[in-house]
Amino acid sequence: MIRGKKEGHRREWEERQAIRCLCAILYLFCILNMTGISLNFRAEEKMHYNNAQKVKEAVSEKVAGETKEYGDIPPKIALTFDDGPNEACTGRLLKGLKKRNVRATFFVIGKNVKANPKLTKRIYEDGHMIGNHTYSHIDMSKVSEEKAEKELKKTGRAVHAITGEYPQYMRPPYGVCSEKLEESMDMIVVRWTIDPLDWKTENTDEIVKKVVTKAEENDIILLHDCYNTSVDAALKIVDILQEKGYEFVTVDELFLN
Ligand SMILES: [Zn+2]
Repeated sequence: MIRGKKEGHRREWEERQAIRCLCAILYLFCILNMTGISLNFRAEEKMHYNNAQKVKEAVSEKVAGETKEYGDIPPKIALTFDDGPNEACTGRLLKGLKKRNVRATFFVIGKNVKANPKLTKRIYEDGHMIGNHTYSHIDMSKVSEEKAEKELKKTGRAVHAITGEYPQYMRPPYGVCSEKLEESMDMIVVRWTIDPLDWKTENTDEIVKKVVTKAEENDIILLHDCYNTSVDAALKIVDILQEKGYEFVTVDELFLN
């Protein structure tokens, strides 16, 4: 009987110990879990704080940018059009630019000047800058110096016959020209800083996107006024960048800046 009672107490004691042990485990588990939650919350809070900081910094930068963009001196940017004048596209482009009070630079091909004297005169009278782009769009790196010079002079004369002025600036077709020839020329060679490959894609939206996402102060944008998609893109680019505070200027104005 006593033995039985003892056994009973022992079992009871063992059961209590087991319960205590279980409670301790549960308590420990709760503590760890709570700490975990607390850590997670802190991490979340920290992340939120970081994001808030980032947003705040981004807004500050944007405001600073806007102040710069809308300040007293607007950032300047230049639109340039190669390979014209083109009977089908240049007139519409000139109309759109005039409407937006924008002046651009046209690197004309001599033979197109001869074929479109009225358009050439309109480019000049609208206040745009005319540059030389050779007479027949030759690759200047593949012809003799004499031939290249002849092409440039012939174009210069064609422009002078219509406007009374010789172009002071030139852009070599494909942007290629030997260093030697470049140095010997009495013209300023102009290349570009943004080329959306408008002639290749002939996709207005793609051209606009490529230009406006890259555009920065003092950029020279290369387009061609012999594609209607490029004309549409040019006018959209003007609308977007004017809205951002940019002023469109001719290449010589950009260089004198
Ligand atoms: Zn060209």
